[in-house]
Amino acid sequence: MKKQAGELDTDLFQTDPCRFLENAIKNYVLTSPLNHLTAFDNSPIVDEPLVGFADGDDPIFRELKTVIGEFHLTPREIMEKYISEKRWRFGVTGGIDRVGVVSWALPLTCETRMIERSSPFGGSPRYNHSRWIGIRLYESVEQYVASLLEVLRCNAVAPVQSKFFEIKQMPGDWMAANWSERHVAYACGLGTFGLNGLMITSRGCAVYLGSVICDRALTPTPRAESRVAYCPYFTDGSCGLCIEHCTGSAISKDGRSNIACLKNLRDVQAGKVINLGLDKELVGPAPACGRCSTGLPCEDRIPSAAT
Ligand code: SF4
Ligand code: SF4
Repeated sequence: MKKQAGELDTDLFQTDPCRFLENAIKNYVLTSPLNHLTAFDNSPIVDEPLVGFADGDDPIFRELKTVIGEFHLTPREIMEKYISEKRWRFGVTGGIDRVGVVSWALPLTCETRMIERSSPFGGSPRYNHSRWIGIRLYESVEQYVASLLEVLRCNAVAPVQSKFFEIKQMPGDWMAANWSERHVAYACGLGTFGLNGLMITSRGCAVYLGSVICDRALTPTPRAESRVAYCPYFTDGSCGLCIEHCTGSAISKDGRSNIACLKNLRDVQAGKVINLGLDKELVGPAPACGRCSTGLPCEDRIPSAAT
């Protein structure tokens, strides 16, 4: 029988769940009514997503307890917490057999990146709307993927939207989350870290990341051996342009300081933007800044020196 528009291809899910999920995520993002900058001619917020997968029991997730902190949860720990708190445990009869992770990157459109390039302190109105109006889209993709998987008789949860998600104050006055989308994206083969602290994907680092865990095996996407393979600064000492491009002095040869970044956005940049009268078209609770992801060789691709 001919499938209706929007009908789920459940046969494909049974034979190739990764392709099914990749198709579903791309289709959702490209057709979502939330993927529009209503204040900017309704143009899209993001382009077609990149999608990657990992085995939730891959040792890399346990390593994150050393890299980030013991509190960083593995996919299996999150799945166990999620299932044990379900009041109605449909179809859950014993232990969890397999755990899969799907991660995606939503690339900002070319037009938004171009405008942000020339913004003196970052946070052009278009970039600002992509950040704050876009949140509804970014969260809805996670809700869609998790509910889609549950409809297909899996248990599935978006860690950052779960009740287990926490951001902790760390010694040295910095904050760390117990589910790092960037490290998870690396584990799922979406890219590697840049000196700017962002994930350099095949569509660059001007992307928004999201992920969902499920109790279904997903075939891992191959990943680069080194966590920093795509940033020339780490491979041959070249580039380093993000250091100068950050007007908040938050990036150095040692990488990105999240504390310095936050301090700049809160204490310095907001005042400059208001004094210059550039805040009139802005939305959201705080300044947004894209100077470490735009106007750089890693903005929309893996820099050639690193390939
Ligand atoms: S600007 Fe250059 S050094 Fe900085 S993250 Fe991008 S590629 Fe790496
Ligand atoms: S590190 Fe922070 S202040 Fe510096 S460019 Fe990036 S977002 Fe802006």
